[in-house]
Amino acid sequence: MFIVIGGGPAGFFGAIRARETAPGQPVVLLEKSHQALRKV
Ligand SMILES: Cc1cc2nc3c(=O)[nH]c(=O)nc-3n(C[C@H](O)[C@H](O)[C@H](O)COP(=O)(O)OP(=O)(O)OC[C@H]3O[C@@H](n4cnc5c(N)ncnc54)[C@H](O)[C@@H]3O)c2cc1C
Repeated sequence: MFIVIGGGPAGFFGAIRARETAPGQPVVLLEKSHQALRKV
């Protein structure tokens, strides 16, 4: 299992890349605020 902390661009790309690298593994992305990708 991959756990990515932070729902900004880096976190999203990291989560996508983790999924591509290991398709069978669950990926969890944790975001502390109520809105992911807030700055973009
Ligand atoms: C006001 C503003 C507007 C911008 N607008 C644009 C734009 O329109 N287009 C563009 O290309 N770039 C924009 N940028 C630049 C862009 O935001 C940054 O380059 C980009 O967001 C950096 O991505 P990041 O994933 O490294 O960090 P961040 O975007 O900062 O993402 C980090 C995330 O991690 C979360 N986080 C932090 N600590 C924790 C924790 N302990 N647990 C869980 N989650 C946590 C934060 O809430 C945040 O969502 C803007 C920047 C600012 C300041």
